Amino acid sequence: MERLERDLEFYGVSRRDFLKYCASFAVLFGLSELEFTRRLAHAVEKAERKPPVIWLEGQDCAGCTVSFAGLLYPPVGAIILDKLSLRYHETLMASAGELAESVYHETVKEGGYVLVVEGSIPSSDDRFCLVGGRPFREIVLEASKNATCILAVGACASFGGIPKATVSKGMGVKDLVSGKPIINLPTCPVHPDHLVGTILYILTTGKLPELDDFNRPKMYYSQSIHDNCRRRGHFEAGNFLQDWNDPAQKDYCLFEKGCKGPMTYADCPIRRWNSGTNFCIDCGAPCVGCAEPGFYDEMSPIYTAESEASRKILALKKSGLI
Ligand code: SF4
Repeated sequence: MERLERDLEFYGVSRRDFLKYCASFAVLFGLSELEFTRRLAHAVEKAERKPPVIWLEGQDCAGCTVSFAGLLYPPVGAIILDKLSLRYHETLMASAGELAESVYHETVKEGGYVLVVEGSIPSSDDRFCLVGGRPFREIVLEASKNATCILAVGACASFGGIPKATVSKGMGVKDLVSGKPIINLPTCPVHPDHLVGTILYILTTGKLPELDDFNRPKMYYSQSIHDNCRRRGHFEAGNFLQDWNDPAQKDYCLFEKGCKGPMTYADCPIRRWNSGTNFCIDCGAPCVGCAEPGFYDEMSPIYTAESEASRKILALKKSGLI
């Protein structure tokens, strides 16, 4: 526990805050708080050779990077991430040019790193998304060869995301790479807790978390948004919001404003965003289905119930299945 104590002091984190943070993960991992803290302390102590990480960015907006960088506060998350050696990250690294590229190539040669991919990979041809003159597709294939596991962060790297609906026909990592453990962490952007929790799971248990059919960790993506939505009663009663400016309708169900909550699986209503402050539906915006493989094409138009997803939801409602 010595090193962990030093880290807590260095980052100015109280023991109480740290234990509270651990407790939230322990429940998810099916461990007691004590056992989780013990394993975490062990992972911190033995992290002399920090597990190396390569983070690649393809067709993306860097939103997942912003989400990840937000973990520097609260600093408890930073303690966990400090146990990793982020060797290559185009947006965050201080070095550039040949020096940065040589670190990338050396790490790939050594092997044994975690590969994080942000952004989708063009599938239509190799004119799109050239990084240093090389097609992104070629770089992902090269970097995945010696990786121990791959984390596809955000909707784009998981399933193609918005670039899938464009001329480059973006695809997710799993559409390109085979023979490697791939964990998809969709939503747009990735939720910082999903990223840190998955890394923590691997560090403390030495194995991958249980995944669903779309390679998403079940601990975060097993319940629908609809099942945990506070507007659900209005959905059942047929009270659908028509006018955002009418105070009487402010808590009504957003289905007719395009909500895809009934067919979207993620823990946003429970975990919420921005350190538990809020999430889309409680701000009055419909769920856009960004955790699902059908995002964006199947979910658009976003603000009306005319999408393919909305038609499916309506059919399920008519048959009494939701
Ligand atoms: Fe909530 Fe959307 Fe379901 Fe309505 S359709 S209850 S707003 S998740």
